[in-house]
Amino acid sequence: MKIMKTCTVRQHQLPEAAVGTERKLISVHFGPSEADRKVYIQAGLHADEAPGYLVAGKLLELLHKADAAGEIKGQIIVVPVANPIGLSQWGTDTIQGRFDDSDNVNFNRRYDDLAGELADRLQGLLGDDSLANVAVIRKCAGEILQARQPATEVEALKHLLLTLSHDADIVLDLHCDHQALLHVYMGTALWPEGADLSAQMGAAATLLAKDSGDMPFDEANSKIWWELAAKFAGVPIPPACLAATVELRGVADTDPEYTEQDANNLFRFLQRRGFIAGEVKPLPDLPVEATPLEGVDYVRAESAGVLTYIKHLGDMVEEGEVIAIVTQPMKNSGQGEKLQITSKTSGVFFARSAERFARPGKIIGKVAGVRPLEGKGPCLLTF
Ligand SMILES: [Zn+2]
Repeated sequence: MKIMKTCTVRQHQLPEAAVGTERKLISVHFGPSEADRKVYIQAGLHADEAPGYLVAGKLLELLHKADAAGEIKGQIIVVPVANPIGLSQWGTDTIQGRFDDSDNVNFNRRYDDLAGELADRLQGLLGDDSLANVAVIRKCAGEILQARQPATEVEALKHLLLTLSHDADIVLDLHCDHQALLHVYMGTALWPEGADLSAQMGAAATLLAKDSGDMPFDEANSKIWWELAAKFAGVPIPPACLAATVELRGVADTDPEYTEQDANNLFRFLQRRGFIAGEVKPLPDLPVEATPLEGVDYVRAESAGVLTYIKHLGDMVEEGEVIAIVTQPMKNSGQGEKLQITSKTSGVFFARSAERFARPGKIIGKVAGVRPLEGKGPCLLTF
């Protein structure tokens, strides 16, 4: 029997930001059109984070093979380059793809929060059937998005990404940190159902938040579900989108072994979740239980100077333990004065700066503690 391949590649044009410029995205679609389950995966939303592009590319290679074998069972969308605007921003010979040059807004913040408008539109449309509720919520979300008229190139980009992802059962946003172990962010309501993602990826930390503030892309897809469940108390509304930000280690971690490992793990996760046929390998043990995002100590330098790390990534640190030293090179007649930087919590030291210079307030490391820290404020993510 001849196997019909399902893959299609779609091009999406962004509106011109300046005379004579025009940027495009591609989305790669797999799976039978009648499939009722959908996963959406993107890379490079922070355009200066290299590993995701490679992992998405390798995953596409695996998906094409599975497609040729007739093994794709659900809808799978991959956007291998999610932010061509950021990719075009170079300064001092370095790519600057985290913030939009036009307004300094982080490309992974301020996504459209549909929950309020959805709640108005859903009056009288929800019932006792949880699956039917999910379907009607997705339909209404799609209608709201379709009626939007984004004014700028970056608004059009954010709108496009959310339009492609808003009705997915699983949304994975591939990022990386400066120097880090692989770690995952997801909504509190998505745990422990989402634990197989962290286990399969080998996440050294999984950080949970109900609302991490300022609407990152993953939460634009997932948070509406628990917000609507809270607005319509007594009506069954499940957390129907497992959206997660997967941090693929650090910016320089583009070694082929990592790329291969991460793409294979994503593929196996999709197999386990029924999007791809084939033998499902045993789920690896979860390396570490999830902890609250509110428990992450963003360890900050208090003075300017040169940074030396005492702790290595993966070290367990105790509250009050020294993580790094800042040397102030003009002090002590030029011999330098050394100041200690300590952790406010106990937990795994999972991320640190790629630079070796500090200034007051600069985040130089992250420690995943179990207990929420005080004074975090509404914005739990770094800027
Ligand atoms: Zn990022």
